[in-house]
Amino acid sequence: MLKSPTAVLDLTAAQFASPDARPISREAACHLLHSDDAMLPSLLAAAQLARQRFKPGIITYSRKVFLPLTNLCRDYCGYCTFRRDPREPGAHTMTPDEVMEVVRAGERMGCTEALFSLGDKPELLFPQMRDTLRRLGYKSTLHYLEAMCEKVLRESSLLPHPNPGLMSAEWLERLSRVAPSLGLMLETTSLRLLAKDAAHDHAPDKDPAKRLHVIEDAGRRKIPFTTGILIGIGETIEERVDALIAIRDLQERYGHIQEVIVQNFRAKTGTPMAHWPEPGREEMLRTLAVARLLLPRMNIQAPPNLSDPHYADLLDGGINDWGGISPLTPDFINPEKPWPHLDELQRRTEAKGFELRQRLPVYPEFRSQAASQSPSLDERLLSAADGEGYAATKRAA
Ligand code: SF4
Repeated sequence: MLKSPTAVLDLTAAQFASPDARPISREAACHLLHSDDAMLPSLLAAAQLARQRFKPGIITYSRKVFLPLTNLCRDYCGYCTFRRDPREPGAHTMTPDEVMEVVRAGERMGCTEALFSLGDKPELLFPQMRDTLRRLGYKSTLHYLEAMCEKVLRESSLLPHPNPGLMSAEWLERLSRVAPSLGLMLETTSLRLLAKDAAHDHAPDKDPAKRLHVIEDAGRRKIPFTTGILIGIGETIEERVDALIAIRDLQERYGHIQEVIVQNFRAKTGTPMAHWPEPGREEMLRTLAVARLLLPRMNIQAPPNLSDPHYADLLDGGINDWGGISPLTPDFINPEKPWPHLDELQRRTEAKGFELRQRLPVYPEFRSQAASQSPSLDERLLSAADGEGYAATKRAA
């Protein structure tokens, strides 16, 4: 029986001294997440050892453009400033010309990823979106997204990575033929957060069972998949660990989860959670370290712009990826938090002793899985990747 965080950490350190260390247990993870700041240096050291055994010396990022295909959304998450109702100022659905204009500018800046991030099925709630789609010539937002991914794949050197919310098995298959990886944040497994006035009140698409179902469907089809957790939105420590373990279980069953994002909640003016407390630096680092020890052989990402100005510290928690960074477009989900300049990201990453490498929206070890989804992806990935599977495009000076 484990007695204290110190005892757990001693066991963990001994465990990760071995090259074939097993992931820590739920009980150990909960103990460590409850530990105090005095234990943080030892916890971070264990996480860094685990990362060293997984991918030594290299931290990756994806150079991208962010395409908010539509910011209309049928959900109302308590922390979101991205979404709009149709008549709200700023409500917008991009036209194909607007999409390609951004893609072309991204090409000129050495980008290799076209991230499509959009609201979840707005046409189910808003007749205005149904009209927009009719004018564009598509039956649904997903049909429109598919066509734009296909266009980007055919007419540019960028590779699409769509994040459209919940998808059926049929849509997972369709989109996986025009994009080398797909994404859906699990965010949490807490059902409590769907209750009145909680973070996911009025957000039916954030039901954890539905999201786990999508990730599992993607696994059955061997689709390289990005998911992750959002911390600090009202979940307990135990629920946070359970969400990471749910992701781990799916990875053990299907082997398709190419990366796990650990995103920290940031309070935004004008939202129902504007005055909700944000997770501090130590809590974020503790969570990253525990995630690394729970998922020792998975890619773990944390967005640097949400931890500015001290984002380089996130490397101490055992992450091995910075996620998508754009030299061109803002982070439309967190527009008040600009991405770091790539030169600065490189400088800070190197100062911590790592090499910064540009990856594609599909990780090198998942490239063949992505290529097997369609001949056009196979062809495009051959020209987009270097011999090791990283982005062949040299970063512009
Ligand atoms: S977080 Fe996503 S699903 Fe929730 S309201 Fe915003 S756009 Fe919609």
